[in-house]
Amino acid sequence: MRKHIVAGNWKMNNDLAATAGLITDLKRKVNNGDAEVIIAPTYINLHSAFESLSDSNITVAAQNMHQAKSGAYTGEISADMLKSVGVNTVILGHSERRAYFNEGDELLTEKVNAALENEMRVIFCFGEELEDRKAGNQEKVVESQLKNALFHLDASAWSSIVLAYEPVWAIGTGETASPEQAQDMHAFIRKTVAETYNKEVAENVTILYGGSVKPGNAKEIFGKPDVDGGLIGGASLKADDFFEIVNAFA
Ligand code: PEP
Repeated sequence: MRKHIVAGNWKMNNDLAATAGLITDLKRKVNNGDAEVIIAPTYINLHSAFESLSDSNITVAAQNMHQAKSGAYTGEISADMLKSVGVNTVILGHSERRAYFNEGDELLTEKVNAALENEMRVIFCFGEELEDRKAGNQEKVVESQLKNALFHLDASAWSSIVLAYEPVWAIGTGETASPEQAQDMHAFIRKTVAETYNKEVAENVTILYGGSVKPGNAKEIFGKPDVDGGLIGGASLKADDFFEIVNAFA
């Protein structure tokens, strides 16, 4: 059966001390459900986060990585470097990376390939913009994002892929897709994966919803049959809120 996951994307928040403080608070919390808990601090705090969490079952992920193995790429971080500090999971394709750092399908394909070649797990983000949804094109957009960055992979590679459907209009806006909108899209994604690969791959892939998930709406969203967890931005920065969301699976 596929895994439930609740992942916190801290974005460019929390310096060294704040990272340590939030991790201390998170470690005091109890996961009453069956979801794997992941946090994604900034690059500079990944090592300390990994060390501080070595006696817990919270996983540390990176928010991004470069596709090359090493070399003259000033300011960038490779898969090898992430792995050397204990990080085996990476978020790729977040809408903020796409919007502010020009990450498109072609580059994301290279990043996905590099992560998988390095035996990393990928949380792959995608989702439509508001105009796409207003025009009724959300399924077309999502299908093309998946096709262009992931559908070249062998079926066997999908055990290392987690999908994160994040409608751009719901990220950090306070506006959430309704549980029905999330379910409809997740069912469409699963059907598309089944048609491209097979039913087994589709049934086993974890599909997260992201976009203004809060303690007040998590239970209803996670209650939908094709929603296997969440990628949480703002609400992951407070231990109480984050664990209320984690425990929506209890
Ligand atoms: C995100 O950035 O992935 C996200 C879902 O943010 P928020 O929860 O703040 O909308």
